[in-house]
Amino acid sequence: MEALIVIDYTLDFVTGKLPVGEPALAIEERIAELTEEHLRRGDLVVMAVDLHEENDPDHPETKLFPPHNIRGTEGRELFGKLREVYDRNRDRILWMDKTRYSAFFRTALQEELSKRNIDTIRLVGVCTDICVLHTAVDAYNLGYRTIVHPSAVASFNPAGHDWALQHFRASLGAEVRD
Ligand code: ZN
Repeated sequence: MEALIVIDYTLDFVTGKLPVGEPALAIEERIAELTEEHLRRGDLVVMAVDLHEENDPDHPETKLFPPHNIRGTEGRELFGKLREVYDRNRDRILWMDKTRYSAFFRTALQEELSKRNIDTIRLVGVCTDICVLHTAVDAYNLGYRTIVHPSAVASFNPAGHDWALQHFRASLGAEVRD
């Protein structure tokens, strides 16, 4: 069984408070298409979405990034076409708040995957070299087969994006293909 995990494709990460910008806009169509495809196949589809509290002094990201994906703000809403797909399929998509880069860290993701005997995960979203990367590292440590779709991941850092794509392959044994 497979799951598609869509990471942080929200207003704040595409055009808002911590924007990836053009590279994120360029994958809008593909992310929506993959989400619909996996819903059609009956795979588990997960929206893994960053959740932060305003001015959280204890959160390590507070020192690293401008405030983003703050609880209750529109910045946490899914962006563009993905939002439309989500709105049409809310009852079939699992929304998963996450407070750190990895979608596995202190979330119920592993449990939800185990319940459904899912051994293969597909990763899409932003940023390739931050949240997608850290999720892929946890997936590697937990023993999942991982596929990263290069046409549906993006970063504001082109060098980081390219580095992460080869790291998925060379060091995490992931498949990088569409
Ligand atoms: Zn964050």
